[in-house]
Amino acid sequence: MSNLTSPTPKVGFVSLGCPKALVDSEQILTQLRAEGYDTAKSYDGADLVIVNTCGFIDAAVQESLDAIGEALNENGKVIVTGCLGAKKDGDGDDIIQKVHPKVLAVTGPHALGEVMDAVHLHLPKPHEPFIDLVPAQGVKLTPRHYAYLKISEGCNHRCSFCIIPSMRGDLVSRPIADVMLEAENLFKAGVKELLVISQDTSAYGVDVKFRTGFWNGAPLKTHMTQLVGALGELAKQYGAWVRLHYVYPYPHVDQIIPMMNGGHVVPYLDVPLQHAHPDVLKRMKRPANGEKNIERIRGWRELCPDITIRSTFIAGFPGETEEEFQYLLDFLEEAQIDRLGCFAYSPVEGATANELANQLPEEVREERRGRVMQLQERISAERLQRKVGKTLRVLVDAVDRTGGATGRSAADAPEIDGVVHIKAPYEPHLKLKVGEFYDVTVTAADAHDLWAKA
Ligand code: SF4
Repeated sequence: MSNLTSPTPKVGFVSLGCPKALVDSEQILTQLRAEGYDTAKSYDGADLVIVNTCGFIDAAVQESLDAIGEALNENGKVIVTGCLGAKKDGDGDDIIQKVHPKVLAVTGPHALGEVMDAVHLHLPKPHEPFIDLVPAQGVKLTPRHYAYLKISEGCNHRCSFCIIPSMRGDLVSRPIADVMLEAENLFKAGVKELLVISQDTSAYGVDVKFRTGFWNGAPLKTHMTQLVGALGELAKQYGAWVRLHYVYPYPHVDQIIPMMNGGHVVPYLDVPLQHAHPDVLKRMKRPANGEKNIERIRGWRELCPDITIRSTFIAGFPGETEEEFQYLLDFLEEAQIDRLGCFAYSPVEGATANELANQLPEEVREERRGRVMQLQERISAERLQRKVGKTLRVLVDAVDRTGGATGRSAADAPEIDGVVHIKAPYEPHLKLKVGEFYDVTVTAADAHDLWAKA
């Protein structure tokens, strides 16, 4: 099992240059934070340093070269980005590589994807399924038309299998104006889908008593419903999507569902339920109770019949009886969750669940996980089959050599859900482009993916 006491990788950051460079720095820092990297305040506390440079005038070039030199001396592992990264000298040579050949990677400005690729290469972050908010595969940032927006840190719950609160502390919500500004900057930079993440999106603002902030001169409360409303408006302005992750099924989530009918807050909720049996949920110390969850899901589907519900579950939690496990299977049959991930329970160092009686053998945990996934395969296949013949809006993620493409509908979050395979259009002038939306007609489905024509 994973070693959860391994320290979080730390990145040092030196930001030079104009306000545009500053926005680049903010976006890189946001992405690092969203992926679980920490930032270090000193060179020696960092595992790697990123220097965002300026190349505008000679003095700025010198300042940037000095900053790179200092980072190399003090730390040694340096990635350079920014305007100087794109600059050549009189001989046509890359200035930075010539002066500082030891830098690990050099990119030009507005190169979030390339910078993150270099970070992943030189300072990979181990994936912790119970902790990480972003998928194990990492976030592929090229092409760059979707981005994660982290709205808070930490968590006020104390689920017995989780050590996040002991690592990251209680919930700290980011000021709503900062979140909105970051969202606007991302949309301006071409992001077409914003994925809202946190440990508990529904709890946004609890720690600051839903303090009123300001956005565009108008008051806006630090509250999930107001945030989602404002993000939906902003997304509409930029012709983009907002997708909500880690939403706990509290009553106020019901107010979010009608906002999904406009199409900019996509009808998709990622609700980590973890189990259905009330006694298991009690042992897990989960904030929500199983019976209410089924009513809530039913209510959401009444308000928004097209809603896609994603959830994660743990099979083989300590003390889980065959009867409790069967209860989970019955719940899944009834709830008809569209997208589902299931982990076999695995003890996390430092978690209180380790002290619970009746820890189950690995074979039992794995076998139960297998049964959940087998059931889900059938449910998912049936639900996707109903989409055949329908027209869906998709966002294209990649185009292949034949002119066909892979995209995602509102029902598919990147990296964790299925995709829509789109056949190359017959008309040669109709070229599918990455980062663009298209309406497609679904022609076939399996248990995970759809096939469609544009
Ligand atoms: S809600 Fe529970 S599982 Fe999620 S971060 Fe908080 S303590 Fe961990």
